[in-house]
Amino acid sequence: MTTDKTITALCCKSIDYKENDKLVTLVSAENGKIVATCKSVKKINAKLKVASMPFNFGEYTIVGKEGKYIVTDCKQIESFSEISYDIKTYYAGFAILKSMLDFSLENTPCPRLVSVGVRALKALAIDKIYPTRVYNKFVLYALDCLGYTLDFKTCSVCGKELKDGYFSKDDGIVCGECGSVFKSKIPHEVFQNLFNGGTSDDERIQRNTNIFLNGVVSDMLGVKISVLE
Ligand SMILES: [Zn+2]
Repeated sequence: MTTDKTITALCCKSIDYKENDKLVTLVSAENGKIVATCKSVKKINAKLKVASMPFNFGEYTIVGKEGKYIVTDCKQIESFSEISYDIKTYYAGFAILKSMLDFSLENTPCPRLVSVGVRALKALAIDKIYPTRVYNKFVLYALDCLGYTLDFKTCSVCGKELKDGYFSKDDGIVCGECGSVFKSKIPHEVFQNLFNGGTSDDERIQRNTNIFLNGVVSDMLGVKISVLE
């Protein structure tokens, strides 16, 4: 059956395809991850050029069927073109796009994940907030969207307020007395940053938080997030 639908989507990947086409991977609120062809976008003044650009966020009209979708129209909502103003910001932006691909599934709506991704790109490109801080917050919000909420305020087993935290794959964030023997202590400054909502202005602490979250996501989801320079 052929479908013709409009989806609200972020372009997360774009590769050359045939002579003049691009193959894009979109992450959409309505259908999750979708691969589609943008035809003739390498020609000058191609109508769908913006639709095939990474970071483009818009309402995409697609026709076709599973595995053979073609983009026929795109109303741009935001280009996030400012993201390339700084190399660190640019890398963080691509790290967000890569995680969007890793955290989404085909035929599975993910409106909150798309919203979280778009807000993170806005924080990077428009509000110009420190990249590693934005990426760490994005990862925490994305985990929450996937049902892996991490609470750094109270022990997930006994409910005691935490002064220090341990990460356990099975129990989440726990105190020194709870959780399995395989739990690992979260470095104190990383714990304090996360206890306070991940808002530290210290670049070194945000980088260590990034490294900690890399381990957490790898343990919980079996995928790697980027570690930013
Ligand atoms: Zn406890």
